[in-house]
Amino acid sequence: MTSDEFRRWGKALVDWIADYREGIEDRPVLSQVEPGEVRRRLPPEPPETGEGFDAVLADLDEIVLPGITHWQHPSFFAYFPSNASYPSVLGELASAGLGVQGMLWATSPAATELETHVMDWLVSALDLPAGFRSGSAGGGVIQDTASSAALCALVAARERAWEAHSKGGRLTAYASTQAHSSIEKAVRIAGLGADSLRLIEVDEGYRMRPRALAAAMAADRSAGLVPAFVCATVGTTSSLAVDPVAGIGALCREQGGPSPVWLHVDAAMAGTAALCPEHRWIHAGLEHADSYCFNPHKWMFTAFDCDAFWVRDRAALVRSLSVLPEYLRNEATESGKVIDYRDWQVPLGRRFRALKLWFVLRAYGLEGLRLRVRRHVELAEAFASWVEADERFELAVPRSLNLVCFRLRGSDEENEALLARLNASGALYLTHTRLGGRYTLRLSIGQTDTEERHVRAAWERIRAEAESV
Ligand code: PLP
Repeated sequence: MTSDEFRRWGKALVDWIADYREGIEDRPVLSQVEPGEVRRRLPPEPPETGEGFDAVLADLDEIVLPGITHWQHPSFFAYFPSNASYPSVLGELASAGLGVQGMLWATSPAATELETHVMDWLVSALDLPAGFRSGSAGGGVIQDTASSAALCALVAARERAWEAHSKGGRLTAYASTQAHSSIEKAVRIAGLGADSLRLIEVDEGYRMRPRALAAAMAADRSAGLVPAFVCATVGTTSSLAVDPVAGIGALCREQGGPSPVWLHVDAAMAGTAALCPEHRWIHAGLEHADSYCFNPHKWMFTAFDCDAFWVRDRAALVRSLSVLPEYLRNEATESGKVIDYRDWQVPLGRRFRALKLWFVLRAYGLEGLRLRVRRHVELAEAFASWVEADERFELAVPRSLNLVCFRLRGSDEENEALLARLNASGALYLTHTRLGGRYTLRLSIGQTDTEERHVRAAWERIRAEAESV
């Protein structure tokens, strides 16, 4: 493809994306294809000779779009959002166009320094502990996902515990029964063994009980095991419950034996709320955390993938992840004056993700971001009030930030049938969880373009479909 052809097709593709976004509300939110349908439309073998780009673009409409679940649809209320606002899409384009692989400072100084800088910006924007800033002993790095952040935190915790215990003793990890499955996955990948993870009971609000955590750590210590890692969740996946980080943090310090237990705080979804001072209570106790992450790719309008991860002691992280072969040696690294982010993550190579975060922060400004976050929370508040006012429905737990967990007063089967009817309608997309053992519907409001009319329409549809189950 020549530069002129790239200009032509690049503009055509940008137009295609803008047309897609403008017309998105006419599409069913949840893809309606059957398994195998997309592949059946594809030729069995790749083309021997290059095709015209017009044919490729046409197939985006013909083959790809029918198989898309429209995460950018304003009536997407499922899981948690995965926002790809226009500024972040442009950031992705700029990143792909530059084609940088930013494993070392030397392989593109701007990729590293912009990343360090926007991560410091976020420390201010969210009012995070000063110990996460790059000028302190800590620092921030962009990971692909919260799952990777948890794994890196756990590996650093494992090394620190091994150092303190002269590589002896079996390590144990702790998270609540409501913690995300990525914590169990990290425990398995880090080689602690799935049976080393203790799932701590929660209170009636699905928050971890610090006393139960203290008891579990004490029992393990008496059995000769080494408590090494606790993950507290700020905004659980099922119900956005916020664990009492301050109490948990105090336990990690007090009960750690020769070395304190590493506290990781996972705020994948809810962390964005701290842009607004009135929601900063969610981070109470964060000064106790050894590491913390949230996902701008969920609620902060930044295209997947983008997880913001900070540590209080960057040396502990780097010690656990750094391997320096001859072919990566360079003067800048040897000088000790630069950050090489390859040492802060699992893979060697890394994308220039800071660009999209930078574009988002500059295009919206903090006020623009706060405005949208506040609007989502207000919409969730309104939806929860409608649920409470209708005697056929009930809230499963009080609304938390922008998530409403509710159900039809009735059996699990009726709620399951309601969800199936709603999602088959194409008008909206919701998902479910289980709270207190009961099937529960979740309405998660966080898509960039969601307005009151979308939430009202969702509620009307839910009430109408409920008549038929
Ligand atoms: N932690 C929490 C609380 C989550 O809700 C999720 C996903 O929804 C994750 C972690 C995993 O996120 P990621 O896909 O970035 O690994």
